[in-house]
Amino acid sequence: MATVTPGDIQTARDRIAGKVERTPTVLSHSLSERLGVPVHLKLEHRQTTGSFKLRGASNAVALLTAEEKVRGVVAASTGNHGRALAHAAKLEGIRAVICMSRLVPENKLTEIRRLGADVRIVGNSQDDAQQEVERLVGEEGLIMMPPFDHPAIIAGQGTLGLEIIAQVPDAALVLVQLSGGGLASGVAAAIKGVSPRTKIIGVSMGRGAAMKASLDAGKPVLVEELPTLADSLGGGIGLDNRLTFAMCRDLLDDVILLSEDEIAAGIRHAYAQEREILEGAGAVGIAALLAGKVKPTGPVVVLLSGGNMDMNEHRRTVCVEAIAERAA
Ligand SMILES: *Cc1c(COP(=O)(O)O)cnc(C)c1O
Repeated sequence: MATVTPGDIQTARDRIAGKVERTPTVLSHSLSERLGVPVHLKLEHRQTTGSFKLRGASNAVALLTAEEKVRGVVAASTGNHGRALAHAAKLEGIRAVICMSRLVPENKLTEIRRLGADVRIVGNSQDDAQQEVERLVGEEGLIMMPPFDHPAIIAGQGTLGLEIIAQVPDAALVLVQLSGGGLASGVAAAIKGVSPRTKIIGVSMGRGAAMKASLDAGKPVLVEELPTLADSLGGGIGLDNRLTFAMCRDLLDDVILLSEDEIAAGIRHAYAQEREILEGAGAVGIAALLAGKVKPTGPVVVLLSGGNMDMNEHRRTVCVEAIAERAA
């Protein structure tokens, strides 16, 4: 069966060295005190482009043949994958087309354009954007770069796992975000390869957690997509999922889900106590600890996966909570 091995991830690390940052890991004094075990934060929201997605995108772009590089790459992501792919393509001097629907906010569009990508606005949904991707693959020969279910993307995201276990070799538990599962598959494969006894728990939002529903069903299933503070964790895993479903099933020790209030508390704790600005998805590991949904008995590493939140929304999230707390 197709999978991504620790060896693939080590090769990816050498391939993307110099193209991505090796982000720091710091001890959280407030969480360590609260939990009674050392809690380390992996500050991957400080990665270039604001998320770990640059690791997978850089690895996948570097693996293209010379002929494929001439054709260029295309994706239908409005978020962190699109931004990372635009950046990685620019660095290699290749063409990137990012397709999005008319509903995408102006600030996201501007950022991807600033990176030199060709932005195509089509239709009113992610499905319409995906249709445009397929048209461009068929008619213009562009290479499609999927956001998670692709061996080079998973291996690239896995380089984060190698860094985590090198920085905290005695980690008993690692909390990792879970959506399409490219991140969790890669990180779990990397860490279990070096340290098989380290537990890896996937964390998702309760609203529309496609991988959790699929793991429970024993096969990929569709879930309704709902608005959530952790918008980078939204979306399905694909009914024709090739890699990440099986890898998450085989490698993750558990999956936990969070409410919107719990995620907001994670964002607020990161800001007020850790002095870090996180998007909802980036804060779910902290949120899981605060909510008491995991009870670690040894050193923990919490991955902070991204920080690309609209700052007005961030301010509202932090303030609304502060006002509610004062009233209580
Ligand atoms: C994409 C993303 C995730 C989830 O990664 P998957 O590989 O889809 O599971 C988590 N956090 C952030 C910030 C992301 O951009």
